[in-house]
Amino acid sequence: SSSTDTLLASIRTIPDYPKPGILFRDITTLLGNAQAFRRAIDELVHPYAGRKVDKIAGIEARGFILGGAVAHQLSAGFVPIRKKGKLPHETVRVAYSLEYGLDEMEMHKDGVAPGEKVILIDDLIATGGTAEAAVKLLRQIGADIIAACFVIDLPDLGGRKKLEALNVPVRTLMAFD
Ligand code: 5GP
Repeated sequence: SSSTDTLLASIRTIPDYPKPGILFRDITTLLGNAQAFRRAIDELVHPYAGRKVDKIAGIEARGFILGGAVAHQLSAGFVPIRKKGKLPHETVRVAYSLEYGLDEMEMHKDGVAPGEKVILIDDLIATGGTAEAAVKLLRQIGADIIAACFVIDLPDLGGRKKLEALNVPVRTLMAFD
């Protein structure tokens, strides 16, 4: 559709970033394009309009930008999932491996109350390691994860299947081989 074309065309591809052989999908060009940014947020939001959503959990850093806009649109709260050491209050923490190394992420223990309905948001899913870690954190504190949503899917890397195996419904707006 023309909407998908607008979104697709708004993504910039950077070869050999951050390492040789990696094709980095840069969403700053989507964010900087008013029409594409609005479309992406509208498409992320529309299945949940009118449904009960308590919190949007956004993954640092691009998930904050998208997740903040989605939270506003759904009249939901926003909760940040961050690299370790950035959050000031009591946290839950999980170690994970990502496409380019090892890291730990955390969120505030009281960021989501048990039973609250949460949508997880990030810009892109590759191996799914980052999103899987976020799912573990959210479930540790009793969140009811109703979906994980991403602008971009890299299906060859298997992230969607990893999340679906954890019974998390996955939505993505476009895919690159
Ligand atoms: P995964 O853990 O699924 O392998 O990697 C996804 C995470 O790495 C996301 O937080 C995403 O922001 C980042 N990431 C990995 N590759 C890319 C890429 O090509 N473009 C962008 N924008 N983010 C990427």
